[in-house]
Amino acid sequence: MTTTLPAASIDSQHRLLRVALPVPLPRLFDYLCDDAGPGDIGRCVRVPFGRGEKTGVVVALPETSDVAAGRLKPVIQVQREVAALPDDWLELVAFVSRYYHAPIGEVIALALPPGLRRADAVAAEDEDPFIDLTEQGEAALADRRRDSRSLRLLIQLREAGVQRRSQVRELPDGQAFAETLRRGWLGVVPAPERADAGASRSAPPLTVEQRAAVEAIAESDEGFACWLLQGVTGSGKTEVYLQLATAALARGEQVLMLVPEIALTPQLESRVAGRFPAASVVSLHSAQAEGARSRGFMHALEGRADIVLGTRLSVFTPLPRLGLILVDEEHDASYKQQEGVRYSARDVAVWRARQRQVPVVLGSATPSLESWQHARQGRYRALQLRLRARAEALPRVRCIDTRRLRLDEGLSPALLAALGDRLTRGEQSLVFLNRRGYAPVLSCPSCGWISHCPHCSANLVVHLADRRLRCHHCGCDAAIPHACPSCGNQDIQPFGRGTQRIEARLAELFPEARVLRIDRDSARTRRQWESLLARIAAGEADILVGTQMMAKGHDFPQLTLVGVIGADASLHAADFRAPERLFQQLMQVGGRAGRAHLPGEVLIQTEYPEHPLYRCLVGHDFDRFASSELDAREEAGFPPFSFQVMLRADAPRLDDALDFLRHAQRLAQAHPPDTLRVFDPVPMRMTRLARRERAQLLVEADARAPLQRFVTEWVELLRAQRIPRELRWQVDVDPLEV
Ligand code: ADP
Ligand code: ZN
Ligand code: ZN
Repeated sequence: MTTTLPAASIDSQHRLLRVALPVPLPRLFDYLCDDAGPGDIGRCVRVPFGRGEKTGVVVALPETSDVAAGRLKPVIQVQREVAALPDDWLELVAFVSRYYHAPIGEVIALALPPGLRRADAVAAEDEDPFIDLTEQGEAALADRRRDSRSLRLLIQLREAGVQRRSQVRELPDGQAFAETLRRGWLGVVPAPERADAGASRSAPPLTVEQRAAVEAIAESDEGFACWLLQGVTGSGKTEVYLQLATAALARGEQVLMLVPEIALTPQLESRVAGRFPAASVVSLHSAQAEGARSRGFMHALEGRADIVLGTRLSVFTPLPRLGLILVDEEHDASYKQQEGVRYSARDVAVWRARQRQVPVVLGSATPSLESWQHARQGRYRALQLRLRARAEALPRVRCIDTRRLRLDEGLSPALLAALGDRLTRGEQSLVFLNRRGYAPVLSCPSCGWISHCPHCSANLVVHLADRRLRCHHCGCDAAIPHACPSCGNQDIQPFGRGTQRIEARLAELFPEARVLRIDRDSARTRRQWESLLARIAAGEADILVGTQMMAKGHDFPQLTLVGVIGADASLHAADFRAPERLFQQLMQVGGRAGRAHLPGEVLIQTEYPEHPLYRCLVGHDFDRFASSELDAREEAGFPPFSFQVMLRADAPRLDDALDFLRHAQRLAQAHPPDTLRVFDPVPMRMTRLARRERAQLLVEADARAPLQRFVTEWVELLRAQRIPRELRWQVDVDPLEV
């Protein structure tokens, strides 16, 4: 008689590896591995999958598998040459997977650099990490009952102290190295401390406010605490970060510093590297070459990096000696990933700080209303820098009432006069307009035709510089027609204004001025962006015309005037976060004006000079703005007074997307927790994008926990549904765009 062997009867103890693989399935996969040991948890493995191979991460060594023994396949390779990912890292990705309802393999695929994911590429790099005994190694030595080469190697290594891998292999019993790694007796450890990593250079004496902030954080030794450092541009927040980092490095700890945009890293990178000449500073971002990213990640994992500086992705860097997390410009929307795993790096950073019991500092001139509300309620600790660090006045902010004015291509006489003044004085000005291109649409005055994108519910933007019509959403691109495609009229007109049009008009009005445009068209690559910055710094431009790219974190010492045009459009936007974003943007861009001995001025052209948002800007009063905006949100039940999850679906036909969401709504209503509000599915505001029709369904609750419990079950039900082949859906927890 034959029976199928139950899986549990696999003979030796550790012959199974449970692996997280980067596939869109919410499950783990078991493989066989004859020489698996406890040291393999957290290691990358290469395994057969379908007809090909994949690389994943070992998350457990299960005793038994649900898969029948005969169907289990052996792993191809366990990468034991580099340090295993630590338990706290595995917990971190598991949390992100749970909270954002993304399969764990996808989170791991996001968090691991591509080189590591391939599991074979890294060993070839110039790495020679330090090796020492693990706890298991110590235990093995302690109850040593017999002699073996591996045990002898442990003794030799303990006598020699921590050694580089190449040196361990050279020890008398170095041949047992692989064996000891497999048993988990030896492991990669942080580099022995360099005493001077915290040695810092040229720190200015702190202002009273800065010192108060640094001391408050340094003196609270309660492990985890979340600090909200609110300080106007130029108030010296970065200096506070650097001083806190100095202290952390001196204690032998690692510092994780998040910045919103790659474009901002070079400046900060050189400031950090200049301050800590002896520290190992690693920068990480997604635009980096693979090798550099893998190397930086390994540096951090092995404890050799002292400071990790990077964009949202770097929140996943393993940091064995982590002592401090800094999140600069914490309000910035780019911390939230808008595709794939829709995580917020700021929120994950706070979770991680709590997990590791270290302080986290969120810094901003204009905190997100969520963070500001936490600080007001005492969940975060509030720190304020009210004055600029170098005794500079804040810029004077004024509104120009444009209701009765004749504008010249959108430019008011007062703004033009102010620009003329700056030219005479040899100072720089910036005209800020958050719309690139020449004009937002091309239209025919005789038949009303306008340049729609054929694939999106959006207009094609006129780019006169290269005579193209371009969709800013799907990238679709066409030549500007000579005549109206609908009626043949030759006199078709660009309608409205973008940066190119303002640039062209300013060049006509001020022929003696050097006008420089800064937007995503003129600064497409990091190199172009850096060269534009260098030209501005060298005084090679008189008038800058720029989008929000200009708003962020740069010092332009000669810039004394900022003119804002076209801001009113955001006052009446449908998104409840639009006023918050507008205020942040204008305060940030206004902060560019005036440095050193040159007082700055901000002129805002508006038809609503009495609008409370502008009144608060004129008074530099973020707190008043935040408090009134929060009152409005509370009344309407918007976040942070409620918690939201958005289910989005897209398909070539809108009805398919809506049908799916209606079905999801019925499923939700079949098990609704009492506190849950399930809204009706609606087409998204920009319904069509890149030939797909998009719709969404909002679920809201007054508390996070029941909402999360509900969504976990709901997503499981949704995954089990049969759906049209062309339909895609995603869950967005704490969505920014509602
Ligand atoms: P923020 O990050 O708040 O915009 P920074 O830290 O970049 O501010 O500081 C703004 C400017 O003031 C920088 O040029 C910085 O070097 C300078 N600065 C900051 N703190 C001090 C200080 N305590 N004494 C003198 N200069 C300072
Ligand atoms: Zn026409
Ligand atoms: Zn398009």
